[in-house]
Amino acid sequence: MSLVVQKYGGSSVKDVERIQAVARRVAARRDAGNDMVVVVSAMGDTTDELIDLAHRITRQPEPREMDLLLSTGELISSALVTMALHELGQKAVALSGPQAGIMTDTTFSKAKISAIDPARLERELKGGKIVIVAGFQGLTEEEDVATLGRGGSDTTAVGLAARLRADACEIYTDVDGVYTADPRIVPEARKLDTISFEEMLEMAQMGAKVMHPRAVELGQIYNMPITVRSSYSDREGTIIGVENVNKVTGIAHDADVAKITLVGLPDRPGVAHQLFAPLADAAINVDTIVQNVSHHGVTDISFTVAKTDLQSSQKFIESVARDLGASSVIANPDMAKVSIVGTGIQNHPGYAARMFGAMSEAGINIDMISTSEIRITVLIERAKVADAVRALHRAFELDQA
Ligand code: ADP
Ligand code: ASP
Ligand code: MG
Repeated sequence: MSLVVQKYGGSSVKDVERIQAVARRVAARRDAGNDMVVVVSAMGDTTDELIDLAHRITRQPEPREMDLLLSTGELISSALVTMALHELGQKAVALSGPQAGIMTDTTFSKAKISAIDPARLERELKGGKIVIVAGFQGLTEEEDVATLGRGGSDTTAVGLAARLRADACEIYTDVDGVYTADPRIVPEARKLDTISFEEMLEMAQMGAKVMHPRAVELGQIYNMPITVRSSYSDREGTIIGVENVNKVTGIAHDADVAKITLVGLPDRPGVAHQLFAPLADAAINVDTIVQNVSHHGVTDISFTVAKTDLQSSQKFIESVARDLGASSVIANPDMAKVSIVGTGIQNHPGYAARMFGAMSEAGINIDMISTSEIRITVLIERAKVADAVRALHRAFELDQA
């Protein structure tokens, strides 16, 4: 018997009809003779609504209670999908992340899976049950519930698929697969049949929210190919984990970026460390960093963080800036980044020039630039992000196969 792990995202379980449709899809697969583990996200916008609710009570919720609150969204959908399966005459059981043996580190709101104890899952599967697992959550060493970061149910699914050595890992969402750019912004974006782990990882890290970055990373580490497809259609999706020879594979964008600049820092050894160590300790991910040429022993440093991390970053940065004698700290919460991603970038000069040319023609100012072997990213103002994505999609002729 084959083991199939499926994951259904928020829009796929947004109401009773969608939940019933998911149950029918799962049941059909089960009846075809597969063992099934199904990971579900919270219904529709539940997670956003819970965050909003918490902020109506307190400006700064305790991370522990916030995670406990957010984990309830996935509990609701796992119980309801299981009931819908019972209605179809299927044997099924709902498990929370902790009940499913998912252990995490203690970084609330962006915890990493540290281990998975498969005993309970294997017992339920052996008993002939479909197992429905609440995504996005696990249990810390201190037995607190922690969540895996926004979009983290993908990671639950890939983590379980790898641990259980599943034969297939399928991510069901509201688009037909991975496109050359977000199809909501670029109507002529093209669905990719395949994409490599490496390219998908860069796309996900640079904001293509169709996959959670950590999920792609786990797929790569455990060599577990992932299929992304629609829960609304039977169209074939995209297989992540197939090497290819694309030049530029896709455009990723992230419209929720903030930039922080420290002006007038002393230019001496240890300054950057003093600045960034507290952010690393607080699990705040710093992206592009630019240090200016120093004049008379002082320099400016700019860097970007996720917009959601701006407030907590500022707290650390302002105190470090005082200690170091910086003249000011400037925060700009209205930035975005746009990236071109493709394995071809590493071997061919000229991509950067073409990218900057397209931005210039579209009249978009580039604020910062960063690169990896297979990616070039520009930081721009948020208001221009859709124009930038479309301009680059056109410049690299991504609508043509
Ligand atoms: P789910 O709730 O199923 O996890 P998400 O909203 O997290 O779904 O991810 C799906 C969304 O990702 C799509 O609706 C689409 O707008 C967005 N997206 C961004 N970039 C891409 C891309 N390159 N290909 C496909 N979808 C993308
Ligand atoms: N419900 C969580 C979120 O909205 C996790 C997920 O959907 O993957 O981010
Ligand atoms: Mg998602």
